[in-house]
Amino acid sequence: MMKSMDGFTGRIGWLEVICGPMFSGKSEELMRRLRRAMIARKRVQVFKPAMDDRYSEDEIVSHGDVRMKSEAVKSASEILAKLDWRTDVIGIDESNFFGTDLIEVVNRLADSGKQVIAAGLDTDYLGRPFAPIPDLLALAESITKTLAICMRCGNPAKHTQRLVESDDLIVVGAAGLYEARCRRCFEAGVPKQELLEFARPSYRFQQAAQS
Ligand code: ADP
Ligand code: ZN
Repeated sequence: MMKSMDGFTGRIGWLEVICGPMFSGKSEELMRRLRRAMIARKRVQVFKPAMDDRYSEDEIVSHGDVRMKSEAVKSASEILAKLDWRTDVIGIDESNFFGTDLIEVVNRLADSGKQVIAAGLDTDYLGRPFAPIPDLLALAESITKTLAICMRCGNPAKHTQRLVESDDLIVVGAAGLYEARCRRCFEAGVPKQELLEFARPSYRFQQAAQS
């Protein structure tokens, strides 16, 4: 399988997608590819959604604390607005936060000769395909699925397990709120008794009584 740009001649654009659950190394793989492009003296621009300000506003940061400068954008169309048209390679982290508008944007970029590398969650906290990643996979020249390690049993994990109760599709956070789980250990939805100790009402009540 061809996973790099090797073999392409001339200035042809294309789309690479890196997908998988949280903690599977998507951001690290994205940054590895972008660094290689920089070493090859390509012009690189990196974008991430402005809502993901967990660790840094102007950097993408992996769970292993690998960092790279990036531009925060509020929507997929803002990627086009902020694009320097001399840029050769465009990296997009947390692509699943951009919604379906991202599909047309990355297609346009690839059609106009850009190399686009998009990383994002392919399933949500209930295990359902997470738009717009399924569409990006269908449109891409190259796709990579990364797996994490299941925090219950150590097997390869394709699921993002939400550990706190919420019906919102997007709850931004990392360790403590989510963990990686394999197919067998994944529980779609969180039964109340599964709440972490700090999130239990009785625990909060005790803490309040003590202070
Ligand atoms: P993603 O972008 O897919 O969320 P990152 O690139 O941010 O992943 O982080 C990957 C890093 O997270 C790994 O290199 C490792 O240091 C760390 N990590 C923490 N928990 C896990 C886990 N359950 N499985 C694999 N790696 C993990
Ligand atoms: Zn497991």
